[in-house]
Order: sequence, then C-alpha cells, then structure tokens
Amino acid sequence: MDKGLLLEKLSKKIDDCRRCDLWKNTTHAVPGEGNPDAKVMFIGEGPGFHEDRVGRPFVGQSGKLLDKMIEKVSLTRSDVFIGNVVKHRAPENRDPSSLEISACNYWLDQQLEIINPKVVVTLGRFSLAKFMPTAKISQVHGDPVRVRNYVVIPMYHPAAALRRGAILRLLEEDFLRNKEILFDPESFDMSKLGPKSEDSDQMSFFN
Ligand code: URA
Repeated sequence: MDKGLLLEKLSKKIDDCRRCDLWKNTTHAVPGEGNPDAKVMFIGEGPGFHEDRVGRPFVGQSGKLLDKMIEKVSLTRSDVFIGNVVKHRAPENRDPSSLEISACNYWLDQQLEIINPKVVVTLGRFSLAKFMPTAKISQVHGDPVRVRNYVVIPMYHPAAALRRGAILRLLEEDFLRNKEILFDPESFDMSKLGPKSEDSDQMSFFN
C-alpha cells in the first residue's frame, strides 16, 4: 500500500489511542505530518499547547524556529516528516513518563517503519534516548551516528534554544554542519559512520 495511505490510517488510529492516559486532558492527538517519502524525519518530544489545539506538530514558537533551521539547510517542511515521541500533550507540558513513552513508542516505531527515513534528527533528550539511551545531548549534539539503518543526528530541542542564546547558536551550527547529509541523504555514504558503541543497548531498546 501507498506510504501516504498507511500513514493516514495510522494517524486515525493514533487519534483514538487510549494506550495511556495522556489523551484525557487533550483537545487533539498530534500524530505528526509531512512527506511520506521523506528521507529526513525529525522527532520532537510531544505536543505543546498550540499543537494540541490544532493537531499538528511544531506550530508554536519552537515550530517557527524549527522551520527556520530546516530552511537553513535548503529544505522545507514539505520535504521532511515531523513527529514526536508522544502524540498527546502532557498536562502543563510536563515531561512524559517512561510509561507514556513506551506506550507511544508503539506508534513511533510504525511511523519509522512506514517512512523508513535515511536520517533521523532527534530534537531533545527524550527523542535522543530512543536511539541512544545513555547518551548526553551536550556531548553528542550535531554528530551523526549510525543506529540500525538510520543515520541519527542528535540536536538540541528548539524550545531549549529559545530559552538560551548559547544553545541557539549550537543548534544553528549543528544544522549547518550537517547541511550536506540533510539536504541529500541519498548521496551520503553511511559506511563512513561507525556504529555507536552503545549498539547493544540500542538493540535491547528496540527488541
Ligand atoms: N515541542 C515538541 O517537542 N513537539 C511539538 O510538536 C511541539 C513542541
């Protein structure tokens, strides 16, 4: 079946998801959106107030900044797919719990399988933890690594960049440093990247 149709079907199921209790305080689920054939997938943490209102990811201030960063590497939102670790907003934007994250991982894994991106850009620590459970964002940001079939590029969350100018500069640098791979992942030779030393960790996380 067509990837777009598969994603649409999945989004409908996510709309009705009751795998954890997060849905109870929300207006909309935010399944994610973008190009079903995207070579680059961004994964944030979870919807905030504005995203919950409209059911779309990264539409608030963080989203505006993310759009700017995407433009810096000569892409647009329509080239990429943007999703989140959790699909319903947590009350008061609190951190998602490990139970909520693992419940929602069910959907994220299916999105990854359908889209099958070459490059996954993790935004913030929750998304990073899916691929590199023991990594620290301050140590690994901007450095692409191979995790299973993906090139994972850990990045700071745009919300952190909005809070601190120093993080904003790092985020800009990380995007620009990875412009080639983000713009044209097909031409990037993945074998240049060694697997992360934590690969055994990652495997158990995925299995
Ligand atoms: N922050 C996120 O992590 N995701 C969104 O969709 C919006 C803000």
